[in-house]
Amino acid sequence: MEEPQAASIDLDAIRERYKRERDRRIRPDGARQYRSAAGEFGYYAKDPYTQFTEREPKTDHVEVLVIGAGFGGLLASASLREAGIESIRLMDEAGDVGGTWYWNRYPGVRCDVESYVYMPLLEETGAMPTERYAKGEEIRRHAVRIAEHYDLYRDTLFQTRSTNLAWDEDPAEWIVETDRGDRFRARYIITSTGTLTQPKLPGLPGIESFRGHTFHTSRWDYGYTGGTPDGNLTGLADKRVAVIGTGATGLQAVPILADSAGELFVFQRTPSTVDVRDNHPTDPAWAAALKPGWQRERMENFLAIIAGEPVDEFLVTDGWTATVALQRHMISGAVDESLPEEERLLRDELDDAATMNRIRARVDELVADLATAEVLKPWYRYMCKRPGFSDHYLQAFNRPNVTLVDTADSHGVTGMTENAILVGDKEYEVDCIIFATGFDAGVSGVMSGALQVTGRGGRSLLESWATGPRTLHGFYSHGFPNLLHLGAVQTANSVNFVHILQAQAEHVAAVIARAEREGARRVEPTAEAEERWLRTLQKTAHDTSAFQAECTPGYYNGEGTRSFTGFSYSPGPVAFHRLLCEWRDGDMSEVLVRGDEDAPQHLDTVGEVAS
Ligand code: NDP
Repeated sequence: MEEPQAASIDLDAIRERYKRERDRRIRPDGARQYRSAAGEFGYYAKDPYTQFTEREPKTDHVEVLVIGAGFGGLLASASLREAGIESIRLMDEAGDVGGTWYWNRYPGVRCDVESYVYMPLLEETGAMPTERYAKGEEIRRHAVRIAEHYDLYRDTLFQTRSTNLAWDEDPAEWIVETDRGDRFRARYIITSTGTLTQPKLPGLPGIESFRGHTFHTSRWDYGYTGGTPDGNLTGLADKRVAVIGTGATGLQAVPILADSAGELFVFQRTPSTVDVRDNHPTDPAWAAALKPGWQRERMENFLAIIAGEPVDEFLVTDGWTATVALQRHMISGAVDESLPEEERLLRDELDDAATMNRIRARVDELVADLATAEVLKPWYRYMCKRPGFSDHYLQAFNRPNVTLVDTADSHGVTGMTENAILVGDKEYEVDCIIFATGFDAGVSGVMSGALQVTGRGGRSLLESWATGPRTLHGFYSHGFPNLLHLGAVQTANSVNFVHILQAQAEHVAAVIARAEREGARRVEPTAEAEERWLRTLQKTAHDTSAFQAECTPGYYNGEGTRSFTGFSYSPGPVAFHRLLCEWRDGDMSEVLVRGDEDAPQHLDTVGEVAS
């Protein structure tokens, strides 16, 4: 579909409308409007998929403990295996590997990045996705395949949460404690605990008084709904079902719920952008013709396109590759320096408006009822929210059993009673409420404070990060030897987050392998190296705050109260991977403590650097 011409775009009117829609939704309580699925609401986070099994506590020793058995943890473990490390223990709160794909089994769950670049180690494990955008269950099984292929089930601790990590100087090991009474030792620890893991709920008055059935999408209750992620939810056939939330999850679940439920009420506060999905089965002839090394090449190509790097050809063309310049306002990467900044920003804004006009026009094309179509139109800039894609979502609102409830004027759903949802003074009687309300952003593991980490000299990691995380390359911190983190903090990011994790996993495995090969006493960045990295991040920081300040609220902009500026390496993932690669070719003296030399006993406090 062609974008409308820039000349036909009235930017002033669009800006005014965006401001109005933002102001309609902004709340003084910001992120405090939510409550975690913890404490009295802990049952919302209970694992519905695996029965709890008793086991004896561990009191032994392992070479490497990997906390988090999602793709990050699996990829780090696989790389360590390849490097010849045998003693690897994977630990996870879940009952199996898979991370986000273990938990998210809601109907319709799928990858929203092309599976040929998203699902890692396809060639290594001899796998090929059945569809361009694979189903969640296929991705979860692929995680299992990786664990089996690299023999990672040999020593796993599932249904286990680490509660305390304490460094023991002699014999240079971590003492690990868990909520299952374990107290064992590990020479190295790698954490890969995810960024969107803890389910969150709206803090609704009366939530505890609801007598019907209720659960969060990441803990789907198939015992109640019947059916499978493919649908046929027969338990809902005679039910009035409410789904709260229309983010990436809501978009995927609603079409199947609409098919199954007697009546479906979709409670929307801010509509998502819903662009073309264009999924299709994998063409066997195409797959057979792929040459060895094809997946790396495709992944690198996709990463480069999304990061705004010049490429000779687009191996992937989809909704992500079509909107690269627009993504730059939120995600790190190269910008087109050939244009003066003012002109570039204006071009981006026009391009953004054209894309959003097309997305709004698509609503009119697909939704029959005019009033419903108006409510489904997103009025904000493209990257204010996670972009959405679906060829079924909008059509679901044409069904007679589906009602869209606009909650924007009351800043969302306002309460619950014994048998209903409240929106202002209107009451919607329902039998079942499904929360598609997302996750606490960035709150997991160390950052949440749930995991106590005490390093050299009895220093707590959270205290040492009191003014923001302090790392070298996002991986390790001075004063915390042999503790390596994978994730989105102080690294570079991309929509294909598994690729980001794979590069990180390969890097930390290479560092550990080299440390072992050279008999290093420990892996720990010098205070100077850490400080240099923080300065680099500051110097290159791409300020997204002006863009975010104009966005409708959401987890990207701290519900309209803050921005994430400075958390990542702004030149982008391609530049970051190049930097890591060159660094690995060096002597790694910034992190390998060799021979008898020792890091200073006192922990230097370098200047405070906001991150
Ligand atoms: P989101 O945080 O994106 O969406 C939560 C939804 O709940 C929003 O629509 C929000 O509205 C709504 N909401 C919250 N409180 C209220 C309230 N009081 N009343 C009405 N509505 C409310 O969570 P998701 O689970 O959809 O997605 C989280 C992330 O997970 C995505 O951004 C993506 O990164 C990832 N994901 C990826 C998928 C994939 O295919 N790879 C699929 C699904 C998720 P509002 O926008 O107004 O705040």
